[in-house]
Amino acid sequence: MKEIMPVNGQFEMMALPYSELGAIISAETLSFHYGKHLKAYVDNMNKALPGSGLENMSLQEVVCMAEGGLLNNAGQVLNHTMYFEQFSNTPMAMSEGFAARLSKDFGSVEAFMKEFEQKGATLFGSGWVWLSEDKDGKLVITQHANADNPLRHGLKPLLTFDVWEHAYYLDYQNRRADYLAVLWQVVDWQEVENRL
Ligand code: MN
Repeated sequence: MKEIMPVNGQFEMMALPYSELGAIISAETLSFHYGKHLKAYVDNMNKALPGSGLENMSLQEVVCMAEGGLLNNAGQVLNHTMYFEQFSNTPMAMSEGFAARLSKDFGSVEAFMKEFEQKGATLFGSGWVWLSEDKDGKLVITQHANADNPLRHGLKPLLTFDVWEHAYYLDYQNRRADYLAVLWQVVDWQEVENRL
């Protein structure tokens, strides 16, 4: 994934490339999730950056090096940027090569998706489920609480589903598993694979 750089010591909010995702994520959810939640994380991160010693570093470097409030907000900015950018109303299919890698490491593409959903559904409280590539080139699924990101654990993050309640509650209420099961329909695999 490309390094996200600040402009004059401040990060800009990503542009959202859609206003709704068909019947999967409503415009109302996005107006809160992108317009309120992500906006607050960006604003709070930018307030905490001056004097932190991490000014002018990329967002990815800030996430790896920050602690406390700056880490929480910067982590959420990177997590949400990757989450929103991986979806599309006209998603590109998975390449044969990537499908083969998933099959090698999880048994099949379907088995990968089932395990990913299961790890998202069973993450207690607020957090994120991730697909990443490890240092040996193996694809792995990990659960991370709150604002944590696989980059802080030596992994290369590729795909993530947000399981904070604010990501799904307006559309799916308490049915987190239903939300996870339909998200595959809008995953743009070209974007995911570009992060390799
Ligand atoms: Mn979120």
